Amino acid sequence: MFRKADSYHKCRPVGDLDAPDGDNTETFPLSSDNESRELTDGFHLLVDALKLNGIETIFTLPGIPITDLTRLAQAQGMRVISFRHEQHAGNAAAAAGYLTQKPGICLTVSAPGFLNGLTALANATTNCFPMILISGSSEREIVDLQQGDYEEMDQLAIAKPLCKAAYRVLHAQDIGIGIARAIRSALSGRPGGVYLDLPAKLFAQTMEAEAGRKSLVKVVDPAPRQIPAPEAVRRALAVLKGAKRPLILLGKGAAYAQADAEIRALIEKTGIPYLPMSMAKGLLPDTHAQSASAARSYVLAEADVVMLIGARLNWLLSHGKGKTWGAPNAKQFIQIDISPTEMDSNVPIAAPLVGDVGSCVSALLAGIEAGWAKPPTDWTAAIAERKDKNLTKMAETLAKNPSPMNFHSALGAIREIVKERPDIIVVNEGANTLDFARSIVDMYEPRKRLDVGTWGIMGIGMGFSVAAAVTTGKPVIAIEGDSAFGFSGMEVETICRYNLPVCVVVFNNNGVYKGTDVNPRGGDAAPTVFVKNARYELLMQAFGGVGVLAKTPDELSRAIKEALASGKPTLINAIIDETAGTESGRITNLNPQSAAKKK
Ligand code: ADP
Repeated sequence: MFRKADSYHKCRPVGDLDAPDGDNTETFPLSSDNESRELTDGFHLLVDALKLNGIETIFTLPGIPITDLTRLAQAQGMRVISFRHEQHAGNAAAAAGYLTQKPGICLTVSAPGFLNGLTALANATTNCFPMILISGSSEREIVDLQQGDYEEMDQLAIAKPLCKAAYRVLHAQDIGIGIARAIRSALSGRPGGVYLDLPAKLFAQTMEAEAGRKSLVKVVDPAPRQIPAPEAVRRALAVLKGAKRPLILLGKGAAYAQADAEIRALIEKTGIPYLPMSMAKGLLPDTHAQSASAARSYVLAEADVVMLIGARLNWLLSHGKGKTWGAPNAKQFIQIDISPTEMDSNVPIAAPLVGDVGSCVSALLAGIEAGWAKPPTDWTAAIAERKDKNLTKMAETLAKNPSPMNFHSALGAIREIVKERPDIIVVNEGANTLDFARSIVDMYEPRKRLDVGTWGIMGIGMGFSVAAAVTTGKPVIAIEGDSAFGFSGMEVETICRYNLPVCVVVFNNNGVYKGTDVNPRGGDAAPTVFVKNARYELLMQAFGGVGVLAKTPDELSRAIKEALASGKPTLINAIIDETAGTESGRITNLNPQSAAKKK
């Protein structure tokens, strides 16, 4: 006798998921004694394992062999966001991981789809964002003998060096463990990207539903707190107490940790000036009296003790040495990081504090007695003086209203809007558009700024915007260089399809860096220029969204306000002076020809 599967563990053959209405459950002969049992399969087990662990969203692009999986996930109540290119689905997963502290899931097809998702996986790992790239793959027997399967590729081997961990599941009964290992690897210690390889055959494998249910794992405490050693805390406090010109540097690890209240208390109780790295902006409002952003060069060069909280001394901080950091060996570093091997990676760390940001900062707070002496006033006064001077200069620049707009006048309009609506999430990429936005647009709340991160990668714009809107429900303004926008521009269709409250502002200066290059030999356009006066706003209109051309800060401001009020997908083509902007923005020094000139 056979029994039908229940509606939850309905077990259907691949391709039958969109069968016509009616009773489309299947029955399966299972044992020689003709006893009937309820069955489940790889498709269901995967969805169940994700849901069991509180993962409710999948970012994907359907195709062989995962199409039915995306349909089933949606039918089972998961949010399935389908993109036009896997890289953007992957970027969305990474940003979702950063914002929620749950690994973002990107689901792709085999070989080419997997490779498209791999850039995002590697970028997530580099940025310490937790995500899991799950890709369907060809059959092992054929791949390993290189017999030319459909989209044949040894995906596991390729992914391994580019992520934190990589696993393959070959049997349906191991799906629960596979997902558990992927979640734990992505979240524990330093977060990062994990690859999970699922050969096509796995999805259709069946097993008894009850055994399947038991095989699933709800991961307990996937990111255990890491409490710092008491002597490490004492050492850090001793170094901090000895400082005459202390500085705290906040990185995106501090923002990710969601220890906002503790960090604020530490900064305010010690009175130490602080600098936020770009994605740590808003952990405390950029207008906070102790923010030293407007005196950045001064404090980096002059501080005698620098405490890094969730920030690495990589290229973004000139590796902790050189001119940026003032006199050689004149500094001591305290570093709070969850990764012990981050210590001494570029310069010696006098007081390493290994642990999670929340635990380390709480331990420091506990060690700060009521009578903690605030930093000497000659230090804070010197910073305040420089800040005032630079902020006055900035205000004068922002007050100008040149025609056509330049980066400052356009960003000045956005700055005012974010001030009024501090809950807005800002996504930002480009060269000059990135550099200027970072310093002009103040942030007021934690984790409201997503940008190009550790690699300075282009192409995160629309993926990050979709993730921000989907995971938070908040409005998003994507401040995009025209070149940067091109990498993910087609995803405006995705934004329209899901009717997301995303307002894309394309800073259109007709090219990469600027729009004025010419080919000295005539003929083809110069490599850095685009079609002049391109109508980017029509792209959004093509998919039913709102498109606006803005030539003045007033027009730009009005269009953004309308987008915020309506919540409709909007693209504003902001016309910027094509002569504005510098080659490579603020990292001109990394261009080989500039570096050679300096020698
Ligand atoms: P930024 O680019 O903003 O300077 P980085 O990405 O260079 O920041 O540095 C982030 C650092 O934060 C990484 O070294 C990472 O190990 C660390 N980190 C991430 N999450 C935590 C956490 N919860 N607790 C402590 N450190 C963390």
